[in-house]
Amino acid sequence: MNPADELAPYPSPEGRAAETADLAARVGGELVEYGTSVEGRPLVAVRVPSTLSDRPRILCGANIHGVEFIAGRVALGLLRALAEGDPRLLDLRARAELWVVPSINPDGYARTFAAGGHGRLPSFRANAHGVDLNRNYPRPGGAAPSWLPGAGSDRPGDATYRGPHPLSEPETAALDRLFRTQRFVAGANLHSFMGTVIPARVTERRAYATYRRLCRSFARAQPHRRYFRLASRIFDTFTGEQEDHQHHAHGTWAVCVETFTILASYRQHLRAPSVFWRFNPRDPAPWVENDVSGLCAYFGAALQIERPGTYDRPA
Ligand SMILES: [Zn+2]
Repeated sequence: MNPADELAPYPSPEGRAAETADLAARVGGELVEYGTSVEGRPLVAVRVPSTLSDRPRILCGANIHGVEFIAGRVALGLLRALAEGDPRLLDLRARAELWVVPSINPDGYARTFAAGGHGRLPSFRANAHGVDLNRNYPRPGGAAPSWLPGAGSDRPGDATYRGPHPLSEPETAALDRLFRTQRFVAGANLHSFMGTVIPARVTERRAYATYRRLCRSFARAQPHRRYFRLASRIFDTFTGEQEDHQHHAHGTWAVCVETFTILASYRQHLRAPSVFWRFNPRDPAPWVENDVSGLCAYFGAALQIERPGTYDRPA
């Protein structure tokens, strides 16, 4: 079977690029090439200017792990909802400039697609250097690496190989430059398939409570399946993940969203025919609807509060 049939309804890399350009045009946005991947693919963001001038910026990024196609569907779902005149997106657009990155890791996406989703998880998750991009950010405050499972590995070939040094990869270095120039107030990084919202790791009581509120806003707005918040002031560790870097280095409210749920994934296939169908729902539509709702509520709530970084500073 060719990959297009095997992975339908998920688009090919070319299909995703065309759809992104089409949606950008429909919402009056512009395509911004903010860098180039290891294999020379453009790193593309859609910038949607606010209807009002001088608005804060928000960012929805997806697919930092190549196999997690559903995440990109949700990110583009925001643009599609805006194109279709969804009042929640029109409201958001009046309050903020929206940036969407449908694929942070286009090489991983292309590799997954070319293989029809059949292969080993580490090779689909990583960029073309075999690096887990979501372990490649600097650890806030120079925290020591954690030895907890999944926290990152120094061994090339491992699923969570963190790379030779922080921001060693063109995909993360380019995003870091974007963070610095655009100073996003809030961000969401979309993954699959745990059905959770994982805020940046913070230990200050007020920031921790703020994230609890933001995650609650997200979940309450989800019409089909509410995601639970995964956070702990004690057991979480810094592992070089994007949301921790965004919060602590760039003063952005930032969460990881794990679209799709473990239960739904196993209900879909007790034994998935490929790793791809473990991570992605056969029918993306209800999950896109579910999570676009959550994202609108989350961003709306985050726009009402002062950005972190100014938070604990004495008045
Ligand atoms: Zn992921």
